[in-house]
Amino acid sequence: MSVFPESNVDVLIVGAGPAGLMMATWMAKCGINARIVDKRGTKIFNGQADGLQCRTLEILDSLGFGHRAWREANHMLEICLWNPDENGIIRRSDRIPDTIPGISRFQQVVLHQGRIERFFLDSIAEASDIRVERGVMPSSLKIDESAVEDDAAYPITVTLRHLSEEEATPKQSSTSANGQSVQDGLFRSNLAKDDTQDLLDAAKINAKANSEEVIHAKYMIGADGAHSWTRNQIGLKLEGDSTDYIWGVLDIVPITDFPDIRMRCAIHSADCGSIMVIPRENKLVRLYIQLTTTSKNGDNSGRADRSKINPQMILESAQRILAPYKITYRKLDWWTAYQIGQRVGTSFSVHERVFLAGDAVHTHSPKAGQGMNVSMQDSFNLGWKIASVVKGHAHRSILKTYQSERRRIAQDLIAFDHKFSRLFSGRPAKDVMDAEGISMEEFKAAFEKGNMFASGIAVNYGASAIVAKEGSSAEQGDGTDVSVANAKHRVISDQSLCSGITVGMRIPSHKVLSQADARPWHLHEVLPSNGRWRVIVFAGNTNDDRQREKLGKLSEAFSAPNSFLNLYTPKGARYDEVFEVLLVHKAPRQSVTVLDFPEVFRPFDEVDGWDYNKIFVDEVSYHEGFGDIYGALGIPQDGCIVIVRPDQYVSYVGSMEKPTAVNSFFAGFMKEQQAPDEAQTNGTKV
Ligand code: FAD
Repeated sequence: MSVFPESNVDVLIVGAGPAGLMMATWMAKCGINARIVDKRGTKIFNGQADGLQCRTLEILDSLGFGHRAWREANHMLEICLWNPDENGIIRRSDRIPDTIPGISRFQQVVLHQGRIERFFLDSIAEASDIRVERGVMPSSLKIDESAVEDDAAYPITVTLRHLSEEEATPKQSSTSANGQSVQDGLFRSNLAKDDTQDLLDAAKINAKANSEEVIHAKYMIGADGAHSWTRNQIGLKLEGDSTDYIWGVLDIVPITDFPDIRMRCAIHSADCGSIMVIPRENKLVRLYIQLTTTSKNGDNSGRADRSKINPQMILESAQRILAPYKITYRKLDWWTAYQIGQRVGTSFSVHERVFLAGDAVHTHSPKAGQGMNVSMQDSFNLGWKIASVVKGHAHRSILKTYQSERRRIAQDLIAFDHKFSRLFSGRPAKDVMDAEGISMEEFKAAFEKGNMFASGIAVNYGASAIVAKEGSSAEQGDGTDVSVANAKHRVISDQSLCSGITVGMRIPSHKVLSQADARPWHLHEVLPSNGRWRVIVFAGNTNDDRQREKLGKLSEAFSAPNSFLNLYTPKGARYDEVFEVLLVHKAPRQSVTVLDFPEVFRPFDEVDGWDYNKIFVDEVSYHEGFGDIYGALGIPQDGCIVIVRPDQYVSYVGSMEKPTAVNSFFAGFMKEQQAPDEAQTNGTKV
C-alpha cells in the first residue's frame, strides 16, 4: 500500500556507505535535488574500513571536514617489516615511511568508517536539506530507454519500500571472547560518539513501515555495496579472479610485549602465516589475518564457513605469528571475518543514467587500506559531473568519462591487490634457492612501490573531453570513446610547459600568499569542492613589460562576449557560479596591489564590491616560510594557464599567449547559456 504521492527527484542515491555519502555531499554542495536511501536502520558505529590515504584526506579537506578526520585519527608514520631470521624467529628487518615524504600535505591516518560517515552526514546537513532516509530500499527499477538522451526527462522509475525497524536492523551475532560479550558489525561501540540522533531517527522508521512509494529520477547511483541490488537490476556483472580470500579482522586494545604495536607492521612468520598490524585511534589496534586462501564449507560452493571463525580463533592465529612475543586483550571493539573476490564491474553504468560506485563495482582485499578510499573517490569523480549536467552547465557526454576514468583505476587496484596478496600471504623464502618462498626484498620493493599507488596521488586520468592531452581513452582498454565531445574543439595541452603539473593528475598543492592581505594559503585550500572549474593563470613577474602585456591581452580575451566566461555562465548568475579565474603572480608583493590587476581577477559586485580572494603571489610569508610554487611546479618565467576541474584534476596546461584555447576547451562539452527570456521562448530550462 502506498501512502506517498509519486514524485520526481533529480538524483537518487541507493546506499549510504562511504560511496553514497560522498555522492550526497556533492549534491548538497552543488544544490541538487537529491535523495539518499539506505536499507539499514542506522549508520555503522565501529569496525569495517579504517585507512584514509593522503589523497582522500585532500578530498575531505576540500569538502570542509578533512580537519576532523586529521585531528581524531591515529597517524601512521612508519611501517615496520618483520621477517624470520636464520633461526625462524621474527625480527624487524626494515622501517620505511608509511606515506612517501613530500607527495601530499597529509599522511595516511586511520579512523573507523563510522566516524567518516558521521563527518559526511554533518556536512550534508550543513549544506542542504538532504537527509539519509533509513530503512528504505528499492524494490523495482525501470528505465525508459527512449528518454535517456533527453535532458529534461526523468527516465528512471523506482519503487521504494519503507521497512519496519526490525527489517532495517541487521541481525547481530553475539560472541563471547575472553569472557566478554561482543557483537560484530553494527553493534554500538562505547568508543563511538554523538550518534544519538541516528538512534532516535531509527525509532521513527515504523511510522512508515510497509508502505511503498514511486519516484522518477533523472540519475541514479547504486552505492549499495558488494552485493549491490542496483547492479543486479541493471544486469551488470563483476568479473575477475574467482579465488576468494577469507580475512579475519580483530579490533582490540592489545596487551602485548611486541615492541612495535603502535607502528603499522607487516609480519611474516616462518611457518604460521602473516599478519598486518594497524595501530588505531583510542588505543585500538587492528589485526588483519588472512586465514586461508581457498575457502571450503563442505558443500563445494567455494564459500567460507564463517561459523567456524570467531575472535578467539583469529587471536590464536595472531599469537602463533607473533611468537615468541605474546599478545592478548581485555577489550574487543569489533571483529569480522569476510571473504573477498578480486573483481571489477564489466561496466560502471547503463545509458549514463544509472551508475555504480564503490564496492558495488569492485571488490578486493583490505590489506592496502583501499576499500573506503577508492569507493569514495569513485563518487568524488562522478558527483560534480552529474551536478553540472543536471544544472544544465555541461552536456551529458562528460558522464562517459566516469567509466573511462574510474574503471581503469579499479582494474589497476585489482592488479595491485593480486600481486600484493601473493607477496603478503606467501611463506618467506628460507634462502635464495627456495623458489616457492617469497623473497622479502621483493616484498619490501613491492610495498614501497605500492605506497605510491595506494596513496591515491598517482591517479592519472586519460585523454577525454575534460582532460586535454594526447591519446584517447581507447588506449585505456575500455573501448569507450570519450576522447572529444566534438572534434573541432579538440585542444591539446603543452605538457612540456610545467614539469611539476601533469595533465590528468590532481594539481599539487604549495603555499601562496593572498595579494590583498598577505595571508598564506595552501593552493588546495582555495580550490574547495563546490562544483566550480578553475582557470589559474600563473602570470610570472607582472612588473615585467612583456608579462604585463600578455596578461592584459589574456584578460581581454577572457572578458570578450564570446569567451567561456560569458558563454557558459548562466545569465544573471554570480560571476564565479561556474568558473573561478585565479591569478598567481611572481612580482614582488609589496610593489603591487590587487587594483593593479585586470578586473577579471577581481570581479566587482554591486553589493559586495571587489572580490579580493582571487589574486595570489608566490612569495615568502611572515610566519609560514616560502611555498615556492613556481619552483615546485616548474612554472616558466613566461607563465602559463592551467585549467583545473572541480575535483582538482588538471584538464589543460597551455601558454598565456593562447588564451582562446580555453574557450575551445570548454566549447567541447559546456552548454551555451541563454538569457532567461530566450530560454522561455525556446521552451528550454536554463
Ligand atoms: P558499503 O560501505 O558496503 O555501503 C553500502 C551501503 O548500501 C550500506 O549502508 C548498505 O546498508 C546499503 N545497501 C545495501 N543494499 C541496499 C539496498 N538494496 N537498498 C538500500 N541500501 C542498501 N575495508 C577495509 O579496508 N578494511 C576492513 O577491515 C574492512 N572490513 C569490512 C568488513 C565488512 C563486514 C564489510 C561489509 C566491509 C569491510 N571493508 C573493509 C570494506 C569497506 O567497508 C568497503 O570497501 C567500503 O565500505 C565501501 O564503501 P561503499 O559505500 O561502496 O559500500
